[in-house]
Amino acid sequence: MTVSSNVQEKLSRLGIQNKLDLILHLPIRYEDETHLFPINDAPQGQVVQVEGIIIHSEVVTRPRRQFVCQVEDSSGILIMRFLNFYGNQIKTYAVGKRVRLLGEIRRGFFGTEMVHPKCRIVHEGELLADTMTPIYPTTAGLTQKILGKLIRKVLQDVHHVQVLVETLPDKIITKYRLAGFQDSIMCLHNPPPDVSVEALQARTHPAWRRIKFDELLAQQLSMRLHYRQRRSRCAPVLAKKNQSTNQFIEQLAFKLTAAQTKVSAEISRDLAAPYPMQRLLQGDVGSGKTIVAALAALQAIENGFQVAIMAPTEILAEQHFHKLSSWFDPLGIRVVWLSGSQKKKHKQAILDEIALGTAQLAVGTHALFQDQVLFHQLGLAIIDEQHRFGVHQRLALRMKGSQSDFVPHQLMMSATPIPRTLSMSYFADLDVSILDELPPGRAPIVTKLIADCRRDEIITRIQQACQQGKQVYWVCPLIEESETLQLQTAIETHESLSKIFPDLSIGLVHGRLPTQEKTEVMMCFKQGDIQLLVATTVIEVGVDVPNASLMVIENAERMGLSQLHQLRGRVGRGSEASICILMFQQPLSEIARKRLKIIFEHTDGFEIARQDLQLRGPGEFLGARQSGVPMLRFADLEQDDELLTAVQAAADEILNDYPELAQRHIERWLGDKTEYLRV
Ligand code: ADP
Ligand code: MG
Repeated sequence: MTVSSNVQEKLSRLGIQNKLDLILHLPIRYEDETHLFPINDAPQGQVVQVEGIIIHSEVVTRPRRQFVCQVEDSSGILIMRFLNFYGNQIKTYAVGKRVRLLGEIRRGFFGTEMVHPKCRIVHEGELLADTMTPIYPTTAGLTQKILGKLIRKVLQDVHHVQVLVETLPDKIITKYRLAGFQDSIMCLHNPPPDVSVEALQARTHPAWRRIKFDELLAQQLSMRLHYRQRRSRCAPVLAKKNQSTNQFIEQLAFKLTAAQTKVSAEISRDLAAPYPMQRLLQGDVGSGKTIVAALAALQAIENGFQVAIMAPTEILAEQHFHKLSSWFDPLGIRVVWLSGSQKKKHKQAILDEIALGTAQLAVGTHALFQDQVLFHQLGLAIIDEQHRFGVHQRLALRMKGSQSDFVPHQLMMSATPIPRTLSMSYFADLDVSILDELPPGRAPIVTKLIADCRRDEIITRIQQACQQGKQVYWVCPLIEESETLQLQTAIETHESLSKIFPDLSIGLVHGRLPTQEKTEVMMCFKQGDIQLLVATTVIEVGVDVPNASLMVIENAERMGLSQLHQLRGRVGRGSEASICILMFQQPLSEIARKRLKIIFEHTDGFEIARQDLQLRGPGEFLGARQSGVPMLRFADLEQDDELLTAVQAAADEILNDYPELAQRHIERWLGDKTEYLRV
């Protein structure tokens, strides 16, 4: 098949690179040219086809210039109107010609009408289409006609090409009641006249079900294969030794929640296995993930291995360092902190400790995976707020331990809950643990939406809160376009609030502050020396100051749902009833209104995440994953929930019983996309 480079360029704009792409370029809708309706009996409000003879035609000028024909069949007369028309149309649609029209019928004062129908001259008795006419999504300069022809050509050639060969074994097809692949593709491009158009549109038709099944299956198979490959590598066996663990749990100021105990057991079991753990620990903000990480670290350390804990911001890394030191120092465990801003000499000393193995737990930001950091014997890498890290960064840390033949275990933690359907699909290469319980005694957070014209009320509230000894966060607006502007806003907000509250001690923290100062400010806030902390979104993740119970977020309408949820999670960490005020600027866009409504109505991170998924699709959740994981084009995770469950079961069966078929199926859907259409 030859395609001009011009057409090829248009095709690639539609994401079409090869024959398979072409047959998977499915219609967005169909036109029904398989029936003819009598003019007087044709239903209104839907596209219908009628046929008749032109008995009158003229160009009228009132109320505006238009070309009008009368078309007659045995049942009645229809007026065909063209508001835009060419001279040759007047010639073509002359009196006496037989025409077939496709369009929507209106019955009004002037009789039965069709405005701008699709119209063509036919001979008497000309055959009707025997399938529905597909209408494809296309791009400027590529007509339906050309696109349709290219697709038809490939479909006619099916016997010569591999693209339509069945990849699934009969047993799976029967068990999951699937339509054949080739039949499904054929049906979607050229549905038979009696097809349920509604089912096609709603993508519930068996042909659609098959395409979506295959797509989900390819993703599932490839993720499960990754998972199996990792399992085939070696990791240190870190057996559970209860000695320091028990001592540690006993000295804690609180009792572990049932959920914490449960996920700790899951992790503990993984660590004791001879292959690397790949576990994602999900828990809402404030559910107490840090202690779970500490318990995992302890198990590795008790076995004589080192542990690295990586956090996405310096503030958070330092907070972890302090917390973990306070927990581990009494046990005689050496905890070190590595930061990008440390003095060279100091840093070298820490690097030496890490290389020698005397440092048993190293906490840090991405500084932890720079080349000069060499672990003596890394057994476990823990990544907090994993969605903030890129794939490469995570990989680099994991490789740190592989100077020996061992791959360290890996625990990823995330406070952005991933909706169940996402973890079943895009995260199917990980084991998932869920902390679905908050520590007891937390008073719920009250969320208030206040337009920023009512700033005065908020000022009064802050005053009152501080008088009662509470602490307050003021989060400055997110300015995505410019970090400098964002910084400037933060500084100005700090100044203006300092003027408004001359008696309060007010701090400022933002991403550009030198680490030393950041640390000091956060320490002061934690110790209560700062009453009001003005901050950019750097405090979004992880920061834990239980005495802070009021948060004001400026221009909340600019922020995403997970960001708002994270920020709000900075309060409500103590027993004090907390308030989060979302200030917004009017007018609100439709999407901003929806977001604010969701965050106002819900505090459960999973529910918020689920609604976020509906609102925005999976992109935001995936973050860096997007580049490494097969994306879905046809399946809809919410709508196809039931299918996803079937796919999971089928994937396991296929991997166990038909491994070569698995490869073939993956190749079809995810294989190299370089086989260009030969021109
Ligand atoms: P996350 O990282 O999941 O957002 P953290 O680990 O920062 O949450 O814990 C939030 C707060 O809850 C911390 O102050 C922590 O000490 C406290 N905490 C954790 N587990 C418990 C528990 N079982 N009982 C009471 N408080 C807890
Ligand atoms: Mg945390």
